[in-house]
Formats: sequence, structure tokens, C-alpha cells
Amino acid sequence: MAESEYFAGLDIGGTTVKTILVDHRGEVVGDMIEVRSHVKDGFDATFGQLESALDQLTAAIGIGRDQVKGIGMDVPAPSCDGVIWGKANLHENWVGTNIRDQFSERIGGTPVYMTNDGNAAALGEYAVRRKHHGGLLLVAPGTGLGGGLVLPGGRAYEGANGLALEVGHISSPYREDDGELPVCSCGKKGCLEAWVSLVALRRRIALELAKPENKDHGLNDETPIEEKAFKLRDYAQQGDELAISIFRQQAQILGYGLADLVRVFDPGLVVLGGGLAETEGFRDDYMLWIKEGFAERAWPMYQNSPINPEKITTRFEWAVGGDSAAALGVAFSAREMFRS
Ligand SMILES: [Zn+2]
Repeated sequence: MAESEYFAGLDIGGTTVKTILVDHRGEVVGDMIEVRSHVKDGFDATFGQLESALDQLTAAIGIGRDQVKGIGMDVPAPSCDGVIWGKANLHENWVGTNIRDQFSERIGGTPVYMTNDGNAAALGEYAVRRKHHGGLLLVAPGTGLGGGLVLPGGRAYEGANGLALEVGHISSPYREDDGELPVCSCGKKGCLEAWVSLVALRRRIALELAKPENKDHGLNDETPIEEKAFKLRDYAQQGDELAISIFRQQAQILGYGLADLVRVFDPGLVVLGGGLAETEGFRDDYMLWIKEGFAERAWPMYQNSPINPEKITTRFEWAVGGDSAAALGVAFSAREMFRS
């Protein structure tokens, strides 16, 4: 590959747009540029931001834009062949337009790879693990529960229609105390995300605090539920039983879901992303509870090889890619696809 080749990663989120540049070896060059997202104003506004970021990124390291040989782009919505299928937080003009081809045309024909944010983050975690060449399944509990799968060799598995790996919406049979399946943000009942997400956490906190035995709990005050959800982590870290039981239940149910996903994909490596990855200390307990759930549901051979018990068949790691994981992931893919 020519040494003068560069590849850009453009991570279009609902809140921010992050852009980076990598060189022919896949190393990040220069700094990441992060700006507030204007996706609600239509794709033209975002295209303007991306173009200006590309100019800044290339100028910062003294190269011409013609040296950017390929672009990776990720969007916060399901998409197929460059076309977004769902609106999410975007302006409606994003839907149905071939975003990939239009952007490529706008910047003079540089080839563009486009995928969704879950795949991009999974690709980013793959890209930072230089020595890992097997599969990688990412699950990221956040407001919802996102995910992505990278196949051995480094391609994201996107499915026939770009709709694969909606891990948050696989079925989870767990019911609330009243016997009902919880309603998910997608409108369906009984999704994994309805147990494992910030939204789920808020519901669980409200339900638990309403119980007579918890009426004297420190969180039973006028604090908005959003804040309570953040405070719950501090409580758990201080050993509060209620906080621990809520998180433990959530982590175990995630472990059960992961057992099913691992049985289907056998990725070898499961990476846990989302905000919890940033919580040193607490995350160790959370990981333990995930593994408890996993061990309960998965056969032993999904933990250790029956032939060589030293060989771990499914490893669990926290995400290490940080804020730039998605941008790096799509830049990594662009390099794989478009290098000479
Ligand atoms: Zn759902």
C-alpha cells in the first residue's frame, strides 16, 4: 500500500459528530475533531460539517484531500447499501436517500463505506486489538442496548438488509412482579433492552422504591428518576443491597442473553461497551454478575474447551476504544476496503 494513502472515519451521532484520520498502517494521525451534531437539520447540514472536518484533518497533518483514498461513515439508524431505513433522531430527509453515494459525489468521488453505529463501535474495538484476529461480539448497554459483530478477519456482519445484530431486541422471558413482560422502547414487549438499559434501570428503580420495604431507602425522595439512576451506581459501590440487587439482576439477564448470542455466533470474544466500561471498580462486580448469568445458561464448552480446559472459549473484556471507537472502526474498514 502506498505510504501517502489516508482514510477518514466519520462517526455521525445524534449528539456529536466525530471525525478522525488514519494512515496506511491504520494508525490514527492528528487529533479527533468533535462537533455538535446537526442531524436534526437534515443531511446537508451534516455533510457541510463533515466536509469542513475533512479539510481540517488533512490540513492539520499537511496533506491534500486527494490523499484520502477512502471514507468510512456510520449513522445512528438502520441502513442498507447507503440508504437509511429508520428515522431515529434524524431529520426525515435522511430516510430513503442514498447518503453514502451522495456524500461520495459531493467530495469528488472518494469511495465511502457506510454502516450503523453498533457495527462501527464493534469494528473500533476490533481495530484497537491489533493481535486479535478472531470474531468479536460487542454489546453496549446505554440508553438502549446496542451491539455489533465482527467476523474473524475484520468485516462487520451486517446481514442481508443491514438489520443484523439488533441485540437489544432479542426476546428475554423475564417478567415483572406483576407477571407482565416489560414494554421496550421499540414498542414490543419482552425485549432484552427492556431489562438491560438506562431506560430499564429507571423503571426498575421506580418499581422497587414503590415497595413498602424500601420506603425508607435514601433514594426515596423527590429526586428526578434520571438522577436516581445515576446515583444508584454510587449506592451499589457503597454496598447498598437494593442498588446491588437491581444491577445484579440486570447483569445476570444480560448474561443470559449473551449465552444465547454466543451459542449462535461463537465469537470467542465478547466486548462490553457503554457507560459502565468507564466505571473502574464497580464494573468488576458487574462483569462477575454477567458471567454468573452466562454460566447458568451456556454449556461449559462455551467457557472452556472440553479437550484443553486451559483454553477459554469465550473471553469477556471491557471496551477500550473510548469515544473514538466508532470513528476508528469505520476508518479501519475503509482502509481494508479501499487501500491500493
Ligand atoms: Zn425492543
